[in-house]
Amino acid sequence: MRDATNCTIYPIIDQSEFSSLAVPTHRASTIVFDDAQAYATRGERDLDSYFYGLHGTPTTRTLEAQITKLENGLRSVIVPSGQAGATIVFLSVLLPGDTVLIPDNVYPPVVDFCVNYLQPRGIHHKIYRPDGEGVEDLLDPSVKLIWTETPGSTTMELQDLRAIAALGKKHGILTGADNTWATPLQLKPLDLGIDFSMQALSKYVGGHSDLLLGSVCVNDLGLREKLRATMRMLGIGVGPDEVALALRGIATMAVRLAHVGNVAQSLAEELASRKDVGLVLHPALPDFPQHALWKRDFSGASGVFSVVLSERQEANLDEGLNQLKVIAIGASWGGTRSLIAPMSVKNNRKFGKPEHQRTILRINVGLEDAEDLRAELNNLFDILSR
Ligand SMILES: *Cc1c(COP(=O)(O)O)cnc(C)c1O
Repeated sequence: MRDATNCTIYPIIDQSEFSSLAVPTHRASTIVFDDAQAYATRGERDLDSYFYGLHGTPTTRTLEAQITKLENGLRSVIVPSGQAGATIVFLSVLLPGDTVLIPDNVYPPVVDFCVNYLQPRGIHHKIYRPDGEGVEDLLDPSVKLIWTETPGSTTMELQDLRAIAALGKKHGILTGADNTWATPLQLKPLDLGIDFSMQALSKYVGGHSDLLLGSVCVNDLGLREKLRATMRMLGIGVGPDEVALALRGIATMAVRLAHVGNVAQSLAEELASRKDVGLVLHPALPDFPQHALWKRDFSGASGVFSVVLSERQEANLDEGLNQLKVIAIGASWGGTRSLIAPMSVKNNRKFGKPEHQRTILRINVGLEDAEDLRAELNNLFDILSR
């Protein structure tokens, strides 16, 4: 071959004695075929195989298989973000005229999607109580999906996934769970009968605040086919470098999560014991309203909890936050750094409670030294309570 050809086609080298512990990062748009027959029959390949880079490479399939094992499911799909995980489930199963039920404490962009994307296209939603009470009263023949998020965003109420899954099975309604807070290490929604378990891999799986990905795991090949068809038609896939970062992150997730869970619980207990700190929202605290449900279904707690501020504490909030040295101000979570986000839910709750009128501090515990975090939080609440 001449030079231009030798530039274009790389030489095949012997890899037979190469073996490494890292998952190779396969980059591909085009998939090529060994022979004419393989090309001609490519349409007969099953969904676990390879067609085009958009629909997965061995790198993607490795992460899918790892998530599937942790979720105790049958197949998973990897999507560009946690938000895409929710929207792709909704788009896969809802048609004009259908209704989806969402909890009042759902991740707020999901409400935005229901109101501003689905509703104009004739797909309706109804909001149920954040603790799942009364969800049965909202059922009618148009309801095709019940979405859950437990604990829900910021205010942390739990839904009873077993009860909701049983309700769905009884009425032929699919059910889905946003499992980002607990991760499948602490809660396995599919084991409780839920049909779709979604995670924002951007959080604990990524673990370093530098990637965006999501996953959806199912126990049913027909549901996997619906998800893959929606992704294919919308042109949704993920890049191998993001997936490689997720594969790196997931390797340390169990130790990170166990550590931040322990530290967060002890910090929550300490804050709850301070007379000047009001309501601490953490499901592992014995006086959390649904503590028994948390104990029944979860095998642990992650590193995110909330504290409801008093009016006086709100007045001192900017001063307190501006003195933080270890903890950063920011709204995401699951990475190495501890974060605090002041949240206001009062304008986006249908079933508001008096405490929802107040600013709620959402605290994400990271991997810094626990004593440094304890000192910083105590100092913050000393300033807030002045
Ligand atoms: C962050 C988050 C999402 C969205 O994930 P992205 O990857 O940021 O889109 C969804 N649900 C919950 C509970 C989250 O915390």
